[in-house]
Amino acid sequence: MSAAVPLPSPEPRDHALDACFLGPYGENDALLEKLMVEFLRDHVYWRRNFHPEDPPAIATSSAQHPDYLAFEARMRRELHQLSAALKKSVPFHSPRYIGHMASDLLLPGLAAHMLTLPYNPNNVSEDAAPVTVDMEVQAGLQLARMLGYPHDPEQPDCAFGHLTSGGTLANYQALRLALALKAFPVALRAAQVPGIALPADDWSAFNLAAADTIVLLEQWRAWLAGLTPPEQKYWHTRVEDERIEQRGLADFFAAHPTLRVPLVLAPVTAHYSWSKGMKLLGLGRNQLQLLPTRGMRLDTVALHETLARCARNRQPVLMCVAVLGTTEYGTIDPIDAVLAARSQARSLGLEFSVHVDAAWGGYLATLFRREDGSLRRRHEVAAEYVRFPTTEVHAAFAALGDTDSATVDPHKLGYLPYGSGAFICRDHRAMALLAERADYVFHANPPDNYLARYRSLGQFVPEGSKSGAAAAAVYVMHKVLPLDHVHFGRLPRATIRAAEAFHACARRLALDVADTMHVLVPFAPDSNLVCLALNPCGNRSVAHANAYVRALHDTLRCDPHQPLQLKEFFGSATSLRPEMLGPSDTSRILTALDLDPDSLGTGPDHDRLIILRHTLMNPYLIDHENNISYIERYFEFLGRRVRALATAIDPGQG
Ligand SMILES: *Cc1c(COP(=O)(O)O)cnc(C)c1O
Repeated sequence: MSAAVPLPSPEPRDHALDACFLGPYGENDALLEKLMVEFLRDHVYWRRNFHPEDPPAIATSSAQHPDYLAFEARMRRELHQLSAALKKSVPFHSPRYIGHMASDLLLPGLAAHMLTLPYNPNNVSEDAAPVTVDMEVQAGLQLARMLGYPHDPEQPDCAFGHLTSGGTLANYQALRLALALKAFPVALRAAQVPGIALPADDWSAFNLAAADTIVLLEQWRAWLAGLTPPEQKYWHTRVEDERIEQRGLADFFAAHPTLRVPLVLAPVTAHYSWSKGMKLLGLGRNQLQLLPTRGMRLDTVALHETLARCARNRQPVLMCVAVLGTTEYGTIDPIDAVLAARSQARSLGLEFSVHVDAAWGGYLATLFRREDGSLRRRHEVAAEYVRFPTTEVHAAFAALGDTDSATVDPHKLGYLPYGSGAFICRDHRAMALLAERADYVFHANPPDNYLARYRSLGQFVPEGSKSGAAAAAVYVMHKVLPLDHVHFGRLPRATIRAAEAFHACARRLALDVADTMHVLVPFAPDSNLVCLALNPCGNRSVAHANAYVRALHDTLRCDPHQPLQLKEFFGSATSLRPEMLGPSDTSRILTALDLDPDSLGTGPDHDRLIILRHTLMNPYLIDHENNISYIERYFEFLGRRVRALATAIDPGQG
């Protein structure tokens, strides 16, 4: 029966990928070592050549001093202990690791990061990072191009992106920027700025499209530039005093009684950083409205209904979040449909920004980008896969360029060290509203050079001091592997093909173990994350199925009390909750697994279905050298475990 499920043809060996990583066996150790020694020496020469006339400050004889030797010994001891302890780390590099969103590190990024560390640039400003601040701004433009945002700094509406410690901070930044844009026209009205045409009332000022707010902002700056310095100071202060950032939420909304704290709409599958962000900004978690999904993709019917209700009740909306690659299921929200819903809401007087949380899936956009930056058609992309990309997935990626901002994590599918997230907004002029010292923003002549404007990065970003080494890593990686399908795209292509092979193997396993186990891929994967739901035949209870999957997951999870080598494979687990799934998907999945819907209750172990989750980002899941598929091996392993556990756990006792 196995033959009924054809496996996708194996990925042709791509030698260009061979030099990309240190490798599961450390195959490229000599390459990395050569680079490290070369650039460490280079760094030392740089130190010596700063003022070669300065003699060495540390005496050459001090290396023989007992205190020196004692220090060295202590340092070595601690480093040995660290190195020994780190042997318990999770083996992200191994093709046997298909758990969370982590894998091997791209050599160009790792080497750039390591070579920059001893220079220790601080990207808070150019004074502390004359080289790497520009690299960070360039990396933002590289990501903007990948997403389809305007990326020519000569153009006034060019995008802007910067790095953050991770996707969480990038999402906070999205909230900050959206709020600044939304509230600014209200401040202009309150300050009664003459000379520019302002919206008629607070409601319409609070519901201006981002592009219109940017026009207002530019007009305001131009008007200000025509005044005498004392007048400039007067009007600048007058507007600043009305801004939400100055007054705080309570005071701002008290001053504008027709307005309410705006909602943030996001699918129930959204990452928990959104909840954290609502707390941090003081918007309150109550204002985070989680929308239902269909097949774990945002339900646009529900979105339309919510927006119509908001318009009716005069409830402002700050932002709608669409997730490009959900953290738990890898599913992709219909970004095009979210944009269409916004256009429709506009006719009801409701305006908000659309942010794409592409922390996970952002780099998949390279699959859709030609070298010249244009978009590949669906059939061109599809020629390389069995099922990817569905029409919906292609439409979602094609719509990216029309959104307002996005989060992308170079430390996830960019294969770079932690912490590298990125926030990118479509029109850089909006960033002026985030500047901490606004005097320069409203100054008659801000630096008109795009790069110069962002050299005091600390003015705009949520963090203060930040790693210049991380910026160098992102920039250099993007230069070595440009963000199009011919270069960087080879990597995600291998992972999507691996996910398709994985999906086929899962269906084959379902047939092979049909007498003992129900095996189901609950959603056809949109990308490279595949989940697996299981239930022993004869069992109808959700609690019992959960106990079974937990036991299975115990063999797949990190256990610091056991030698690493005892683990055959690493996987992760997640859960399906009916309130997330919606009634029709819940019923479809329970039926396919032969589970009793009544056993899905309210108890701690009954209210959700535990499933296995696999992130297929390791580039070496198919070993061409030795003709090994770690995916097939994983399923052989799973088949063995499934049979062993099915006999060990008696469904009659569920
Ligand atoms: C990982 C992730 C985040 C958070 O990013 P961090 O880098 O962990 O802070 C946010 N959103 C999505 C969709 C993610 O997958």
